[in-house]
Amino acid sequence: VSTLQQITACNEIYSAITQARAEGKTVGLVPTMGALHEGHLSLVRASTESCDFTAVTIFVNPTQFAPSEDLQQYPSTLQQDITALAEHQVDLVFTPNKHDIYPAGFSTYIDPPEVALPLEGKQRPTHFRGVATVVLKLFHLLPADIAFFGQKDYQQSLVIQQMVRDLDVPIEIRVCPIVREADGLALSSRNVYLSSSERQQALSLSASLEQASQLVTAGERNADIIREKIRQMLLTGGVDEIEYISLADPETLGEVEQLSTPVMALIAARIGKTRLIDNRRIG
Ligand code: AMP
Repeated sequence: VSTLQQITACNEIYSAITQARAEGKTVGLVPTMGALHEGHLSLVRASTESCDFTAVTIFVNPTQFAPSEDLQQYPSTLQQDITALAEHQVDLVFTPNKHDIYPAGFSTYIDPPEVALPLEGKQRPTHFRGVATVVLKLFHLLPADIAFFGQKDYQQSLVIQQMVRDLDVPIEIRVCPIVREADGLALSSRNVYLSSSERQQALSLSASLEQASQLVTAGERNADIIREKIRQMLLTGGVDEIEYISLADPETLGEVEQLSTPVMALIAARIGKTRLIDNRRIG
């Protein structure tokens, strides 16, 4: 049984992690933006199952939001989050302030790898620059053995894995499966924005990915046909603000034409004011 320690100061966090490692413990790190749900908690469980010491970070990173995005509205449930983390045997929660992460004069950013360019990178041109910068800072502040990320943000997981390889960051990246509601909706902190009719529409994201998977199982190999089926299913479900439908190489995220090997199907769409993403490995 462990008790949850909360640290807010950037100048205290490094020694807390290095102390755990000096005690011979393996350290797992779960970076989040809070408003925790079962998706986040699945990463916590993956960490507590394979590491002796688990640290979770809660930081709504301003540099990964564009001025037009939902930074100001982003949900925050800090007290509930801390209760959930304590119940899940988390050892440490790091809740820095934005002025400590980005003090006056901060001006160094990571130029993210090529895999950041398509899909999310096209729709949100400065997003991965902010993600890569804050994640590298967290890896420095909390030098863990293993960091846990969700497949929910599949492109993000590729960006971070490439950054870690390219910059020789001594940390292992583990990517964990998407946690879904019973009806298929991928858990997201942003789901709280959805009205009940919007939530109904949102179901067509996971449903269309499921349908695409079935098409491939039935023998379809033409990517254009599958993308079009996904589009039709989204439109039928009332989702008409589609940002992208991608059938991409799982490593490069380059669009494929023929499905000879497994691909990633990735979707981004707006439902009212809420932007949702989902993905699934197919074939
Ligand atoms: P966020 O707080 O949205 O930045 O997410 C923090 C981490 O949780 C990221 O690695 C996400 O990919 C992961 N995550 C978010 N939603 C889910 C989900 N439904 N299933 C699994 N992991 C998730």
